[in-house]
Amino acid sequence: MYEKGRAWIELNLDSLKSNLSQLQAILPSSCALMPAVKANAYGHGAIPIARTLSQQNITHFCVASAEEGIQLREAGIPGEILVLGYTHPEQFEELYHYHLTQTVVDASYGLEISRFGKELSVHVGIDTGMRRLGERSENLDRILSIWNLPHLKITGLFSHLCVPDSPKEADILFTHRQIQRFQTVARCIRGKSNRPFACHLQGSYGILNYPHLSFDYARPGLALYGALSQPDDHTLAPFSPRPVLSLKARVESLKSLHAGESAGYGLAYTAKQETTLAVVSIGYADGIPRELSGKGSALIRGKTAPIVGRICMDQLLLDVSLIPKAVPGDEAVFIGTSGGKAITAAQVAEKAGTISNEILSRLGSRLPRTITCHNCPNA
Ligand SMILES: *Cc1c(COP(=O)(O)O)cnc(C)c1O
Repeated sequence: MYEKGRAWIELNLDSLKSNLSQLQAILPSSCALMPAVKANAYGHGAIPIARTLSQQNITHFCVASAEEGIQLREAGIPGEILVLGYTHPEQFEELYHYHLTQTVVDASYGLEISRFGKELSVHVGIDTGMRRLGERSENLDRILSIWNLPHLKITGLFSHLCVPDSPKEADILFTHRQIQRFQTVARCIRGKSNRPFACHLQGSYGILNYPHLSFDYARPGLALYGALSQPDDHTLAPFSPRPVLSLKARVESLKSLHAGESAGYGLAYTAKQETTLAVVSIGYADGIPRELSGKGSALIRGKTAPIVGRICMDQLLLDVSLIPKAVPGDEAVFIGTSGGKAITAAQVAEKAGTISNEILSRLGSRLPRTITCHNCPNA
């Protein structure tokens, strides 16, 4: 009964494959997916996720750091792995050794890469409005100067959308402006250089709300994991996200409280009547936001059990007064399904005042991951 331990993540790789093929069907067939597997694949586990995607013929990935790219290479992941963020020049040798592709975050960084002296693969980042990474799209001379640098093997050009999830008219206009700026830069470079490179712009919401765009790649993260940012998000392209991840923990013991008795740090919870609490072995160190103290809930035996009192580092309390069948050893589901009920990452995020990406990517490294898949050879 205790084979999965105190708290764990379950991955459903069949759901991953379903999300993958739905996204592929939304995009023109000339556009390939370059999944974002950064932050340990949004908390899912970068290696099982990247392996499964590789088996589905995915040949391009993006990560946030050189370390994340190296981890994938050491697990034998082939193909192009793009580091979306900054890499310190001291790590250029590692980029070279592991055949990782580096983002050129601006023209002067391009010069630093060039000074490394060995040929590194790069994608050039363009700032079309985000004001984060990339040379500003109107600085065409500076952008073109990157093409004249020796030792850079430029295989891609990309930008990033700021408001692709928004249905507001002004945001849609802004997105169209970003698309236009990006296309102008791409056209201008193609006019001056005949070295081929691939273009990519869309993340999950770029795919779901601007499905007609036909660039060479798109970089979905969240949608691939079967999550939406917020519970009531609508998207232009039809998409039935199937959550890949479930988060579960064990009921370790039950406590009976008399009316008026309090529980936990700060005695923050007081029982109004005779109450049964379940002590559950998961806490904020596992990624349950402490903000959910007194707000969140879990599912036990298909019923909702509210989180009461302050969430501890390694444990928390659920009110199971209305679940008389609950016993020590039961599973408590924090993200996932139980009976006919479900809790999504987006619902957890909304209660915690954040987005699904943050909830998922902060799931604790000490959680073991178990995999279910009906048709995966060796994920
Ligand atoms: C994280 C990231 C993505 C993926 O974003 P989602 O919204 O999760 O699909 C795509 N592109 C860049 C540059 C990113 O940093």
